[in-house]
Amino acid sequence: MTRPLVVDWTACRGRGLCADLLPELLTQDHWGFPENRSRGPILVPDELEGPARRAVRMCPALALRLDAELPGPR
Ligand code: SF4
Repeated sequence: MTRPLVVDWTACRGRGLCADLLPELLTQDHWGFPENRSRGPILVPDELEGPARRAVRMCPALALRLDAELPGPR
């Protein structure tokens, strides 16, 4: 199962803390805003849920949230 990590762009301050905490999924653009390492939505696999939750907790702007699990293939 994967869970989408969603950035509230109206709140994000672009300091890049989340990219430091979740380098497997995120990098920073030239201004410090988080950028997905792959195309499309930021999908968090089970093994990275702990670090993703930590990034959500530590975001100083409360600009990150972890959405509900997406259903897997049937
Ligand atoms: S930690 Fe929060 S405020 Fe900082 S870049 Fe990431 S989403 Fe934006």
